[in-house]
Formats: sequence, C-alpha cells, structure tokens
Amino acid sequence: MNLILLGPPGAGKGTQSKMLQEFFNIQQLSTGDMLRAEVASGSDVGKQAKGIMDAGGLVSDSLILAMISKRLDQADCANGFILDGFPRTVAQAESLDGMLEDRGITIDHAIEIKVDDEAMITRITGRFTCAKCGAGYHDTFQPTKKAGVCDKCGGTQFSRRADDNAETVRARLAAYHAQTAPISAFYARKGILKTVDGMAPIDDVGRQMRAVLTAKGAG
Ligand code: AMP
Repeated sequence: MNLILLGPPGAGKGTQSKMLQEFFNIQQLSTGDMLRAEVASGSDVGKQAKGIMDAGGLVSDSLILAMISKRLDQADCANGFILDGFPRTVAQAESLDGMLEDRGITIDHAIEIKVDDEAMITRITGRFTCAKCGAGYHDTFQPTKKAGVCDKCGGTQFSRRADDNAETVRARLAAYHAQTAPISAFYARKGILKTVDGMAPIDDVGRQMRAVLTAKGAG
C-alpha cells in the first residue's frame, strides 16, 4: 500500500505516519526529516535548504524530487510507503506521478488531515522530541509522565525544531495555503482523496485513518 498524507504543518502527519508505519508495515518517507538530516550533516543540500527552512519557505522542487526519487528505490519501500510532507506543490505532485509510472507503482490513497490554523500554532510551538529515541511530546497536550525523562527510553535530552517558533509557523502555514492546499483537488480528481478530522485526539485520528484504509472498497 502506498499512501500520501496531506495537511498543514502541525496536523499530525508525522505522528500518524509512524502509527501507520507500524500498523501496515510500510515505510514513512518524510522530506522534512530527510532535510533536517542533511542540515545536521552539514551537506551541500543541507546548506542550500537551511535558510529556506528557517524562514518557513519551501525548498526547490528539483532538490526535493531528486531526494525522493533516490529514496523510493531503497529496499525498505518495497512493501509500500507513506509520503509525509511530500508532495507540497502541484509541480511535485505531477513529477511524482511520472516517477511512479516509471516504477510501475501507484498511490492507493491520499488522506487529508483537516485542522484549524490557529490551533496549529499552539500545537507546533509546544512540541518537542526525545533526542535519543525521537519520541514526540507536547508541553500541554502530551507531556512526559515524569518531568524531563522520556517515557519510552528514559532519555533526558530533548530537542525542539528550529522552525517551530510562532513567526516561522505563520510563514509555513501561509506557504501551505498558497502552494500545498491545491494538491487536495489534484488527488480528488483522481478519486483517491479521503479526509479525516485532525482536531480529534491522536488515537481517534489513528482510528479514523485505519477505518478509511480498511473500509470495503478502500483498496
Ligand atoms: P516538515 O517537517 O514537513 O514540516 O518540513 C519542514 C520544512 O522542510 C518545510 O517548512 C520546508 O522548508 C521543507 N520541506 C519539507 N518538505 C518539503 C517539500 N516537499 N517541498 C519543499 N520544501 C519542503
């Protein structure tokens, strides 16, 4: 099964992708995570991307497409994948179609997570992750059980994304509405767009996702 998750920054694409990855044994491919790894490694790609990411803009389509094309050919995608944060422009969606056609594969479902913009600012600016195992938390909605200690691995170091501040989040939401939101219509025309209510608690959204994906006629 090959999936695309759509929705603005903070909608829960990363969280839901990880849940779907476990449930269906398919690989999460997050272009944001790939770019952050490039930035952390100090590569040329990372150097090109960093300023744009810090400002909340979109990295060039060509750079993103080259990264995804390479990634799709790796063995861990053979059983299926979940695209998280890609495509983000109609041009990326069109190029993805070409890439998939070349490989003889198709997207089964594009799921849009619907949320309110204002709630997204609170969600994003409060989130943090365990530096050791990557588990995600939120200051208000999902704090660690014991202050300063990761529930999953006991780690005591946490990190926040450089672009998770209110000013950059507003720019990211603006980029989403201008460049990414039109993609929903692109997948609706193909008849593979589904929507879920992303304002519900995390586990409820997960249940809605699995219901959409396992419904009769969903495949
Ligand atoms: P994300 O982790 O998906 O929120 O992405 C973080 C940042 O990485 C975005 O604000 C963009 O600057 C960049 N980025 C991630 N994916 C893409 C993409 N598909 N196209 C362009 N820029 C992207």
